Amino acid sequence: MYAGHFAAGLAIKGRVPNAPTWGLLAGVGALDILFGPFVLAGIERASLTPGVSPGFSLDYIDWSHSLLMSIVWSLAFAALFIRRGRTVAVAMGVAVFSHFVLDVVVHPADMALWPNATIHLGLGLWRVWPKGWWFVELAVVAAGVSYYWKRSLDDRSFGARAWAVALVVLLLHILNSPWLKPL
Ligand SMILES: [Zn+2]
Repeated sequence: MYAGHFAAGLAIKGRVPNAPTWGLLAGVGALDILFGPFVLAGIERASLTPGVSPGFSLDYIDWSHSLLMSIVWSLAFAALFIRRGRTVAVAMGVAVFSHFVLDVVVHPADMALWPNATIHLGLGLWRVWPKGWWFVELAVVAAGVSYYWKRSLDDRSFGARAWAVALVVLLLHILNSPWLKPL
């Protein structure tokens, strides 16, 4: 999932307005951010497989995306924000873990319970619905950004340009549509 993660981060912002937006957006992307250096370091693998959204197959992502490691990264990220109070730290942890939850919906069964576990999770929407997954993620994006926008109207302490932020996330999702991809 892509824009759906950012929408989840914004929804958490709506719920916990004093959690810093930059931290939440980094948090929801943390597992994918880790994936990059892990591939470069050779401890994770991806390969180009035409026809499988998002255009490549994630062959081995156990250190960034397994259930156990997602919990570890969530706790580690939350710990970085503990000085800002418990509520903010919990919001940060939830942001990181939301990535795992949303990815389970779209990923084929490539998300291990723990590194090198034989059991893998993933409902596989990318494979089951090669184009339909986009509408499922659109629902996630719409729910997340509309909650964030609504909360920004109720609580004026944040989101002066919430509509613009919501629009950017929606645009990212449109750009990520399967109809705009060469594969
Ligand atoms: Zn991911």
